[in-house]
Amino acid sequence: MSTNRTFTMIKPDAVKNGHIGAILEKITAAGFKIVAMKYTQLSLRDAQEFYGVHRERPFFGELVEFMTSGTIVAAILEKENAVEDFRALIGATNPADAAEGTIRKMFATSIGENAVHGSDSDENAAIEGAFHFSGREIY
Ligand code: ATP
Ligand code: MG
Repeated sequence: MSTNRTFTMIKPDAVKNGHIGAILEKITAAGFKIVAMKYTQLSLRDAQEFYGVHRERPFFGELVEFMTSGTIVAAILEKENAVEDFRALIGATNPADAAEGTIRKMFATSIGENAVHGSDSDENAAIEGAFHFSGREIY
């Protein structure tokens, strides 16, 4: 995967609250091209593996429970400087600290249920994209 890509999930809270369309609109309006996308649900094993770096954190159980609680939208996005620009578009992890106009400020409810995921590096974007999509699902 080239380094102008990032990986995102619209998390179960935002799906349940009916924000898929509005969030995708913000993402495309910001210049990101969707190169892969699916509507799916994480199994317990999927969530434990995906968030494996947080295994020792006190919120890990809560995070896995939340991320498996409902359907998600997973997508690979392409844009120049994708990882950094997407993190700026979604805002701080805690919506209370997120800047005005960011996706988390607009659609997240709490630090745990924070509407969207965004990769934190080119390396993780590639790993996370490959976790969810095979080569023939990426366009
Ligand atoms: P993400 O990886 O989902 O894009 P992030 O990179 O902003 O979020 P991380 O530190 O990677 O934040 O945390 C991963 C996820 O774990 C957060 O998005 C949030 O859902 C959850 N999380 C992080 N910190 C807390 C916390 N203190 N309490 C509860 N949940 C938390
Ligand atoms: Mg993260």
